[in-house]
Amino acid sequence: MRDTEILVTHHKALMELSHNASFIELPRPRKLAALVELCTRLLGLKRASVWLFPPERDRIRCEWLHDEEQPDRNSCISQKDSEFNLFRSDHPEYFRAISEERVVAVNDARNDIRTRSFDRDYLSVQNIHSMLDAPIFDGEHLSGVVCLESDVRRDWSVPDISLAAAIADTISLMNTHEAWLRSKRALEYVRHYDSLTGLANMESLRDRLGHLVRKITRRNTGSLVLLWIDVDRLKTINDGLGPQAGDDVIAEIGQRLKEMQLAGKDLLARIGGDEFALVIRNYTLPDFLDEAIQDIQHRIRQPIRVSGQNLNVSTSIGVCHFPGDCQEPEELLRGAEAAMYHAKRQGRDRSTLFDSEIQMTARSRFALENELREVLKVDGLDVFYQPIMDRTGTQLESMEALVRWQHPERGWLSPIEFLDIARGAGLMYELGACVLKRVCAHWRDAKDRNILLPTMSVNLSSEQVLMPELPELVQQICHHQSMPVSALQFEVTEDSIQGDFSIISRILEQLVEAGAELAIDDFGTGYSSLSRLKSLPFSRIKIDRSFINNLPDDENDCAITLSIIGLARGLGLSVVAEGVENDAHEAWLFDKGCDYLQGYRYSKPLPYPEFLSCYFSD
Ligand code: C2E
Ligand code: MG
Ligand code: MG
Repeated sequence: MRDTEILVTHHKALMELSHNASFIELPRPRKLAALVELCTRLLGLKRASVWLFPPERDRIRCEWLHDEEQPDRNSCISQKDSEFNLFRSDHPEYFRAISEERVVAVNDARNDIRTRSFDRDYLSVQNIHSMLDAPIFDGEHLSGVVCLESDVRRDWSVPDISLAAAIADTISLMNTHEAWLRSKRALEYVRHYDSLTGLANMESLRDRLGHLVRKITRRNTGSLVLLWIDVDRLKTINDGLGPQAGDDVIAEIGQRLKEMQLAGKDLLARIGGDEFALVIRNYTLPDFLDEAIQDIQHRIRQPIRVSGQNLNVSTSIGVCHFPGDCQEPEELLRGAEAAMYHAKRQGRDRSTLFDSEIQMTARSRFALENELREVLKVDGLDVFYQPIMDRTGTQLESMEALVRWQHPERGWLSPIEFLDIARGAGLMYELGACVLKRVCAHWRDAKDRNILLPTMSVNLSSEQVLMPELPELVQQICHHQSMPVSALQFEVTEDSIQGDFSIISRILEQLVEAGAELAIDDFGTGYSSLSRLKSLPFSRIKIDRSFINNLPDDENDCAITLSIIGLARGLGLSVVAEGVENDAHEAWLFDKGCDYLQGYRYSKPLPYPEFLSCYFSD
């Protein structure tokens, strides 16, 4: 046969092999075996191998060896097998050749400068005389080499060289295809998994719920339950200790949930910043679910060590059943979420089963949000006032404004019933402005009746203290009522001052320069740093009522309250105790030198007219 005929025959054989559907399906080692076997058969050789560069690139490593003399050695080669590692430093000329030449065709391998470094240890031992090596290029990148060896001296022909190069090209195509599959898989992973926890994401959860709900409906048997698990107060951790701490907490919780063994556990997903979902199938024992939920809560309550601190984290869990509570996957999700919100409103760290009442609530939350938007357009929210008394509890010192909403159907709503909705809807700044206008209008109204109200204390939200326009707004509203800014005091919670320090401190400084006083609210509940406290212009601390509740019986609360009073002294701040409800609280606080008292012991928050008649009628 003439060279061209041989060439055509070889290429036809290679095409038939590599374009065959069953070849494409083969795993990589079997593909390599088939290619190498074809090559040795067509060229009448006994030994051929495929080598590749590991990431180190200081060597090539044999990936597949075909040896007719020792057929039992035909295999993937173990990476550790030193015989099958060729180092660049031992064979510099060979490495230079494979990286520069299209095909390295060596007729006299033992004497050729490119290959003679193999002579003593290899060529003579294996009785090899000629070598034909075709580098494998993935694009510009040299990734390996196909190595053909002959035990008789052979002057490589054009068809030999051409086939070796074609085999190398086929392997390069395989590499490209595999790389493409890998990146597709990586992309799939990103689409379906959460990178922080490695758990399924919301999209996967939706897919899975859709699949399970269809299956249960079709077979008319089986059930599932969806737990919506929300980490309480993660925002506080993020704000106080930084986003990395928040991520660490989430990753740890994900891990703990992952490790949980549970009959019927189907899919665990991370479906939001601080939210997980757990699907459980066909739970049969009635108490099983209760136990499972308790187990989850117990695991998560174990302290989580982050940034050198032990954090105590709790969760609120919403539970929704299929087919009991809903008909579709989307309803299942919304039901579990609504139940979770219910659990949160009940005070967090608990679980709630979805029921018709919650269904109502979920709908009404949506309605309430729209109504709130409308009310804010006309500055229609009101404020109640609660007195803050001197340390003896007899003299009015100042008054705290607490927002209320007189709803046409539901009556007076307190902040807990709508602040979250306002926050979720991005309405906190507007709400704050509305409260301020009300407070200043009341001050002016009292003045017009010749009553000079004491300092009026107004709560600021975290959204407000991040708004550079806030100081200007305060000045404008006061000016409008001819009220000095110094008649106002602002309360900011510990958590609200965790954002961008330079912005917050500028805003707070400006409020103080304008004459207002600043108090830190609900002190002791957040993760505030003392250095922040010291460098912001606060003049008073309000101790959170959770510490006052159990005074004087609870030793821990006594110790904490005492240390807050001491801290305030050290920083030159005055101290207010919130939630003073009885004589015992009052007596203890008086004894410990607390400056001011606020709580039901003196009065609940009152509507403005009642407050006036209570404290300013003759
Ligand atoms: P806060 O600023 O710490 O207000 C004190 C809360 O404790 C008030 O609840 C008050 O009614 C309640 N309280 C006072 N004394 C006692 C007591 O002796 N025992 C008990 N159990 N509770 C007592 P309220 O009015 O429901 O306000 C709740 C929270 O809503 C406030 O906590 C404040 O953080 C927020 N808030 C209220 N009004 C506004 C506002 O205009 N703007 C902003 N951003 N937040 C507000
Ligand atoms: Mg307050
Ligand atoms: Mg407070």
